[in-house]
Amino acid sequence: MTQTMEPQSAAAQANLPRVSHWINGKIVASTSGQSRPVYNPATGQQTKTVDVASPEEIELAVAAAKEAFPKWRATSLSKRADTLFRIRNAFDSHRDEIGALITAEHGKVLSDSAGELARGIENIEYACGVPQLQKGEFSEQVSTGVDVYSIRQPLGVVAGITPFNFPAMVPMWMFGNAIATGNTFILKPSTVDPSVSIYLAQLMQEAGLPDGVFNVLQGDRVAVSGLTEHPDIAAISFVGSTPAARKIYESGTRAGKRVQALGGAKNHMIVLPDADIGLTADAAVSAGYGSAGERCMAIATIVTVGDIHDPLIEAIKERLPQVVIGDGTDPASLMGPLVTRTHRDKVASYIESGKAQGATIVADGREHPLYKDSDGFYLGVSLIDDVTPDMDCYRDEIFGPVLTVVKVDTYEEAVTLTNEHEFGNGTAIFTRDGGAARQFQFDIDVGMVGINVPIPVPVSYYSFGGWRASLFGDSHMYGPEGVKFYTKGKVITSRWPDPATSEINLGFPRTK
Ligand code: NAD
Repeated sequence: MTQTMEPQSAAAQANLPRVSHWINGKIVASTSGQSRPVYNPATGQQTKTVDVASPEEIELAVAAAKEAFPKWRATSLSKRADTLFRIRNAFDSHRDEIGALITAEHGKVLSDSAGELARGIENIEYACGVPQLQKGEFSEQVSTGVDVYSIRQPLGVVAGITPFNFPAMVPMWMFGNAIATGNTFILKPSTVDPSVSIYLAQLMQEAGLPDGVFNVLQGDRVAVSGLTEHPDIAAISFVGSTPAARKIYESGTRAGKRVQALGGAKNHMIVLPDADIGLTADAAVSAGYGSAGERCMAIATIVTVGDIHDPLIEAIKERLPQVVIGDGTDPASLMGPLVTRTHRDKVASYIESGKAQGATIVADGREHPLYKDSDGFYLGVSLIDDVTPDMDCYRDEIFGPVLTVVKVDTYEEAVTLTNEHEFGNGTAIFTRDGGAARQFQFDIDVGMVGINVPIPVPVSYYSFGGWRASLFGDSHMYGPEGVKFYTKGKVITSRWPDPATSEINLGFPRTK
């Protein structure tokens, strides 16, 4: 996503609050002389500036995390679990404050900020089980007097690079398990909504997390490549757009690091002819326009199979006026603005390109009064029908409140279409036929599948990840795969011998 640069005088910028780094338990102001603007998307006004890390500040953050590692790693499992419980409680008792910060910089409605936070906290709750999660295995008497056991140890300093759309939840996907398993962590949040990262850091410190275990480095590509190439960083978790994910995966692995890099999405919702029209239309509207479509698990494309097309489109059309758009802090709003003006305009351009390429614009978000008259980054909901796979609005990830509809005749065509798309993050099938749904879960080449569930984000004790261009690396995020990602296995073969039986033997060790 490209960030907007609204005109603002230097004097006005100088008076704005500044979001800086969090290194070794305190706020550290950047001396790079560079910053980026932070906006309230509902008003279009710049509210803050965010620092951009210099190479020296990257070194400072890495050094702090490196220094904190030996002590944190040696901290007992009970103490680490206790700290995670306290962090969970700190987040839980500040839900309103965290939610307000998210809405003020991202724009999503407060209920959605609360939802994001709830799902994020579930990842911290999972990490509280670290004494169980980090258990090894033990085999007694594999040979006479010999035992073998395995342990999982932390990697060292690990970094997380996160997108604008979930400024609290996506970092929690990463740092809960990373810290619980004994690593120290550096978060590089999006410059668009950076404040929540600092607030979480402060809450973690109050909860008893030792300084240096969790650090925040604000910045852009310089910070990202500094972290991705740094010899003292053992692993990178990335979530963002596919071009950045691919680049970070390639440069991180080239530098010898473990990397999990989650990318973009274009989630298809397949609707079979027997689906319940009302339930499916409700699901399409909620999953397509919730959080203004700025969710990597949002439904982007509805694939109607056979005759259900016309009644379903009618049912969706009827529901569109119910999507009340406004400032995310207004309890009446169901959908807020988009995150920046530049992004809003890019999303709107797909309505025009769809029209030019022959699609039917059933609802045009540019007709919403807030798009025309407000300084906020608003766009109404759009529904584009008669879309074909060659159109830009089908191929590209739009990441906004735009639902595209592709009509096919058969289930097989729907599966082929979905499987041939560049992205394979999430998908959902809507049907009353259990056999068809079961066949779909077998046939579909996508990492996360919903059956009459439009946004199938796995719970925290499973792992999250797409396929194809939606994920680079072998490891999905959070849950059991997250614990595995942040730890390395060690196997110990042990004997406490009787010195009397000691002898030289040059053969390969055998069990006996
Ligand atoms: P983005 O790729 O622009 O930015 C993500 C992070 O990477 C930010 O911290 C940013 O500063 C940094 N970054 C951006 N471009 C970079 C580059 N070329 N080199 C190095 N660092 C770079 O993504 P965004 O606009 O913040 O977020 C939206 C995107 O994230 C969408 O594509 C969405 O699908 C994706 N996303 C995916 C998932 C998932 O789980 N697969 C979840 C959330 C968001």
